[in-house]
Amino acid sequence: MTERAYDMTIGLEVHVELLTGSKMFCRCSTRFGDPPNTNVCPVCTGLPGALPVPNHEAVKLGLRAALGLGARINLRSGFDRKNYFYPDLPKGYQITQYRTPLAEDGFIEISEPPKRIRIQRIHLEEDTGKSIHAGDDITTAEYTLLDFNRCGVPLIEIVSEPDMSSPEEARQYLERLQRVLRFAGVSDVKMEEGSMRVDCNISVKPRGTAVSGKPVEIKNLSSFRAVVRALSYEFQRQARLLEEGKTVVRETRHWDEAKESTYPLRTKGSSQDYRYLPEPDLPDLVLEESFVEEVKRDMPRLPAEIVAYYTEKLGLPEYDAEVLTLDPNLSRFFDDCVERGADPKTAANWIMGDIMGYMNRQGLTYEKIPLSTENLVEMLGLLKSGVISGKIAKDVLVKVIETGKTPSEIVKEEGLTQVSDEGELLSIIQEVISANPGPVQDVKNGKEKAIGFLVGQVMKATRGRANPAKVNIMLKEKILS
Ligand SMILES: [Zn+2]
Repeated sequence: MTERAYDMTIGLEVHVELLTGSKMFCRCSTRFGDPPNTNVCPVCTGLPGALPVPNHEAVKLGLRAALGLGARINLRSGFDRKNYFYPDLPKGYQITQYRTPLAEDGFIEISEPPKRIRIQRIHLEEDTGKSIHAGDDITTAEYTLLDFNRCGVPLIEIVSEPDMSSPEEARQYLERLQRVLRFAGVSDVKMEEGSMRVDCNISVKPRGTAVSGKPVEIKNLSSFRAVVRALSYEFQRQARLLEEGKTVVRETRHWDEAKESTYPLRTKGSSQDYRYLPEPDLPDLVLEESFVEEVKRDMPRLPAEIVAYYTEKLGLPEYDAEVLTLDPNLSRFFDDCVERGADPKTAANWIMGDIMGYMNRQGLTYEKIPLSTENLVEMLGLLKSGVISGKIAKDVLVKVIETGKTPSEIVKEEGLTQVSDEGELLSIIQEVISANPGPVQDVKNGKEKAIGFLVGQVMKATRGRANPAKVNIMLKEKILS
């Protein structure tokens, strides 16, 4: 392949379901996973004469998203009808904000390479229903079922400028975007449940030419991995076409995860195909300044602010601060530990090491951190005061998680208290020295490594209940004096 001679330009459109209890223009529930067609009414199914009423909470969450993304709020925006026929759209149109969006000109900063990805617009709209194709394959399905529960669920669409130039930059943009929206409490942004969905626009042109290629849209990607793979595939496909002197058709394509390729869905016409018209049943959306101020005041802390706090006030390294702000539940857990008196760096090390390691192995999400902050802080206290050794602490942590008992209970029940009686420790050290004349001689000859072996023997004899640093010093004293 000669794809190195080509450049790609990527823009993303992200649909995000808002965390409201009810739909955008009616009172039906937005709960995910309810039996099909149980959360429907005349408004969201578009029966004649039914009138929409905008959801106050949805507007508020849309504003939060806009503020979190540094966008300019339009105090006056409006609703429009986007007309198209599709079975999961019972009204025959979707209410969206076409002429004037809720907000414009936001941005997301990515770090590798450092770059500002501009956000063109953020607008409110309603979701469509869901088509469930028998056998999950639209091309071979004998029938299709329709679930209108999702019809009318509030969405925001976040449209980026075509500022990304690799699948990796697209992934970073999406991760940062997801994190901001999660911290702002706008959405649960679960790609696997469809509350965050991504459409990609990608065009390819020979490097160094000014003419931009024709954009191809890849619709409805449902994981970051799919985004990266679909974009990589599409880049190669388009570069190959250009290489062969063929033209790229402007079209919408679908990513087939199983076949790892894209196939054409429909030829994309101009946006006029949708026959946008102002929504006659809704007046303009006019926001009071005071309402925007109120939303600003109630805005939860965002990752950038928390990272600054962790590094500047708590003295954590940048890396730790970034990891702890991967998720709001995780940073709340850490904050709570610090509030209960834990040393920030020690707590960070345990959370990022043993706890996140355990969670990864068990496939737990940050919504299910498997122990309480009380128990972690208590364990750190036992460690700090020398009651248990660092090695024992690791085992205690797992037992706390798996039994739900407190660290003190476990230490007491299993006799894990650190050997701190010098006499007891000294006699064990003496035994180890007598049993290992070879390594002892090595230590005498100045071989640093041999001391590690002897420390290990003492730790083994005490079943990990000794302090290795202390054992090290005592061993050296004993052997070298
Ligand atoms: Zn409804």
